Amino acid sequence: EATKEGAAEADNGQPKSSMHGGRLVVVTGPAGVGKGTVETALRKKHPEVWVSVSATTRKPRPGEVNGVNYWFMSEPEFAAKENNGEFLETALVHGMAHYGTPLKPLEEHLAESTPTILEIDLQGARRVKQRAAELGLEVVYVFIAPPSFDELIHRLISRGTETEEQRNRRLATAKVELAAESEFDVTIVNDNVDRAADELWSVIAREYGINA
Ligand code: 5GP
Repeated sequence: EATKEGAAEADNGQPKSSMHGGRLVVVTGPAGVGKGTVETALRKKHPEVWVSVSATTRKPRPGEVNGVNYWFMSEPEFAAKENNGEFLETALVHGMAHYGTPLKPLEEHLAESTPTILEIDLQGARRVKQRAAELGLEVVYVFIAPPSFDELIHRLISRGTETEEQRNRRLATAKVELAAESEFDVTIVNDNVDRAADELWSVIAREYGINA
């Protein structure tokens, strides 16, 4: 039985799959932990990092742009793509909207060894774990944690763009997600956005063999 490392390499020591030249970095964390801000800070410093653009059936928030923040689409459109096998994973998040990671652009970026990040929820990360071997994906799982649970509540409430019901759902989800930290390879505490972004970069640099 080959080891995990051995299975990922062909005889010439190169990654086995020609389709996936690089390792995928999956970033998860409770709602309100600031995954998005950490990623924005990271991309400012390292524009060569590609962050996958998810599909979603939720409505755009003010300022969000189709194709940049998300691919916004209707439920039937999403379902058609899902049935067509176009997503790596999908999830119903907060019981309200569907989210999915388009597979093709992901494979294209990995084939070019572009440092690639997926920012998805816990269900999505677990689904990626289930499918990684089948797809020949090498993945490192990163958990973004809040400095404390109180701080997370504060951040969730101060976002202020949502109804009380939506906020309560997010809080409930956050509690469940916080408990999943041990399923991840790396934890990054988002006590300071720049510092957390630097730490995320060092994970990526290590995975891609870049001198940070
Ligand atoms: P938001 O609606 O606030 O942008 O995102 C809500 C949640 O959906 C976040 O936890 C985010 O990580 C998650 N999410 C965004 N895109 C995807 C995706 O493609 N798949 C999964 N599973 N979750 C996603």
